[in-house]
Amino acid sequence: MRDFKFILHSIYNEAITQTDKGKVATYIPELAKIDIDNFGIYLKTMTGENYGVGDFNTPFSIQSISKVLALGKAMELIGESVFKRVDVEPSGHPFNQLALLEVENGIPRNPFINSGAIVIADILISNLKNPKTDFLNYVRDLCGDKNINYNTAVAKSEKDTGFKNFAAANLLKSFKNLDNDVEEVLDFYFHQCSIEMTCSQLSNVFYFLANDGYCINKKLHLSNSQVKRINALMLTCGFYDEAGEFAFEVGLPGKSGVGGGIVALLPDHFIITTWAPGLNKKGNSLLGMKALEQFTTKTNLSIF
Ligand code: GLU
Repeated sequence: MRDFKFILHSIYNEAITQTDKGKVATYIPELAKIDIDNFGIYLKTMTGENYGVGDFNTPFSIQSISKVLALGKAMELIGESVFKRVDVEPSGHPFNQLALLEVENGIPRNPFINSGAIVIADILISNLKNPKTDFLNYVRDLCGDKNINYNTAVAKSEKDTGFKNFAAANLLKSFKNLDNDVEEVLDFYFHQCSIEMTCSQLSNVFYFLANDGYCINKKLHLSNSQVKRINALMLTCGFYDEAGEFAFEVGLPGKSGVGGGIVALLPDHFIITTWAPGLNKKGNSLLGMKALEQFTTKTNLSIF
């Protein structure tokens, strides 16, 4: 029997003594206000153990982590045809590189780079009655928690400064890979990224990807095969141009966001979320990556 509580506390105690915590994202001005000293971890196991340490109950901006949930909803709505409009190859480039559009056919390289996520946002707008409300309700339903919300100040801040995302969306539109207006798609995308959640809420929300598509309230959202695809995409594309490093160090499917969150999971075993807002040079949470490396090393639990 592994003593998860002891392991998490020892990882936490070591992490908070680190002097190099990376840098908080500043390109979205609202995110620059976050205190770099926040650090939380929350582990949820499929056998019913739940452990939190540090700031695991403080909401933070989930940013790109939302791209996984958006993809999940798009697959629930239109199935495999999502992949006619986005490819499934890793990128090896920073998340906001316009070059990543790999423009040949206007098909973004994967659903987790910004251009790919913008196409997914377009799919959701076309298939949801009230896109922003319905998407928020979907996320709330996944964990049975109505206290999850958009942070409209963060969404506005990103809209005011999201020139590259506007450029990407316009390029997609020129290739006819956006059906809705650029403004509407980006408004949805910026809101989606602005959702705030705590480490414990995120571990609950991602439960369905460790549980054959059944969410925490036992409702079936995705088939086994769809869950496999999303987890494969997290493993190969979940960490910008550092997915190889994350697989090498941690060995789990996962997704990071520039708000400093990381969610990772081992199907049928656990979901673990870390939050430390200081990012490394590749845009991934510096302490979060270290903590997860320690976790899979100390527990010997990874997909490899
Ligand atoms: N909303 C952010 C952007 O589009 C997402 C960045 C991220 O977390 O990777 O720039």
